[in-house]
Amino acid sequence: MARILHVIGGGLAGCEAAWQLAERGIEVYLYEMRPQKSTPAHKTDKLAELVCSNSFRSNSLENGAGLLKEEMRKLNSIIIQCAEKTKVPAGSALAVDRYKFAETVTQRIADHPNIKIHRKEVTEIPSDHYCIIATGPLTSDKLSQHLKGLTGSNYLYFYDAAAPIVTRDSIDFNKVFWGNRYDKNGDDYLNCPMTEAQYKKFYQELINAEVHEKKPFEEKAFFEGCMPIEALAYRGENTLLFGPMKPVGLVDPKTGKQPYAVVQLRKDNQEATLFNMVGFQTSLKWGEQERIFRMIPGLEEAEFVRYGFIHRNTFINSPRIMEPTLQMKNNPGLFFAGQITGVEGYIESASNGLVAGINAARVLRGESPLIFPKETMIGALIHYITTANPDTFQPMKANFGIIPNEEFLKIKDKRKRKRAISQKALHVLSEFIQKHKINDKKDIK
Ligand SMILES: Cc1cc2nc3c(=O)[nH]c(=O)nc-3n(C[C@H](O)[C@H](O)[C@H](O)COP(=O)(O)OP(=O)(O)OC[C@H]3O[C@@H](n4cnc5c(N)ncnc54)[C@H](O)[C@@H]3O)c2cc1C
Repeated sequence: MARILHVIGGGLAGCEAAWQLAERGIEVYLYEMRPQKSTPAHKTDKLAELVCSNSFRSNSLENGAGLLKEEMRKLNSIIIQCAEKTKVPAGSALAVDRYKFAETVTQRIADHPNIKIHRKEVTEIPSDHYCIIATGPLTSDKLSQHLKGLTGSNYLYFYDAAAPIVTRDSIDFNKVFWGNRYDKNGDDYLNCPMTEAQYKKFYQELINAEVHEKKPFEEKAFFEGCMPIEALAYRGENTLLFGPMKPVGLVDPKTGKQPYAVVQLRKDNQEATLFNMVGFQTSLKWGEQERIFRMIPGLEEAEFVRYGFIHRNTFINSPRIMEPTLQMKNNPGLFFAGQITGVEGYIESASNGLVAGINAARVLRGESPLIFPKETMIGALIHYITTANPDTFQPMKANFGIIPNEEFLKIKDKRKRKRAISQKALHVLSEFIQKHKINDKKDIK
């Protein structure tokens, strides 16, 4: 095969992947369907257009997004370089002028001698070339159909209804109890018990809470089995008591009785550092989620690493079909990158475009692809999406709950603990970069 690599999708992940490849001397054909065909959310013909917020989130090393960006800086991320160049004042966050940002990325990519941009919709993956698929949450319908055939129809999702996730550290274990319905010795669920008065107060706040406005293309999601918790609540005061908050089969060991209502939390990762609020997919605004869900006994101090949401999102079942090198399990010439892999967010998407680019370049040169260490945020995200439970797989953002943290639990101050995890992550990444000569002249042509 020639040293040409096809990158499909000129978003954040596709541009980052193309740049990493091109810098390593690989010829890249980058396919972007806009402006010939647009998505329901994009408005311009620019590469790397930000479809919503203009923020790349915090720069602080006490924040998962801050650590991820610092790691990307170490790996010469084009997306972070362009963001720094076009940043606008935003306190400790990195926010950009969205038009200048997309313009700058487009220019840098177009000017690179190893990248050729093709403005066309790709409807089938070419079988005679190595390829990175980075077509994002709004992958065109024709390509989605083709991917369905490639991955198996059960392994490609079109809508995404996710419940909030909280850190184990932030749960008040004096108020909650372990137990599965009809099995008090079970330890699959942590139950937050509510009295009748607590439930009624919670219910009132829930039905009066502010929700995100739906985009027209998201309407369908509501009617296809991803019922938000507030929509269930609108049906009547008792609906939740027969649905996700039903207390039957559970006995609170403190009272010896069945609670009036429960909220169940389920382990969200193998390390049990994150807990998912079962059945609590929601369109409530993020501030409202914090305010109302912190009324739940045991969650008063909850730290939300992901808020609940419902939106159109095309993503593959990565735990079933992808290697931690971002190659498809049964087709090592095919890489996936960006939000389509089940990461969530601008920088998360760009970060795994970066890994796909580095690994695809290595494979084309006959070297082994790399598995990034799970002590780093880049590696932890990929570890999460490739090892999560495939039956309940949902997208994930950068956060400290996905990095192994046992050795840091003795640090009681949470901010200091996060800083220590970040310092270790950056140290591990530096060693990894050195060991595999990732930034060496020999690697970057
Ligand atoms: C409505 C909406 C709002 C969001 N808001 C935020 C937010 O505020 N903050 C945040 O961090 N994340 C947000 N996200 C998530 C965000 O989109 C992604 O995290 C990020 O843009 C994904 O990067 P990506 O490169 O994977 O995909 P994208 O940036 O979407 O890039 C994919 C590219 O592929 C192109 N494409 C699609 N199909 C084809 C095809 N068949 N052939 C050729 N090209 C194709 C598209 O035109 C697009 O340019 C939002 C997502 C959506 C859908």
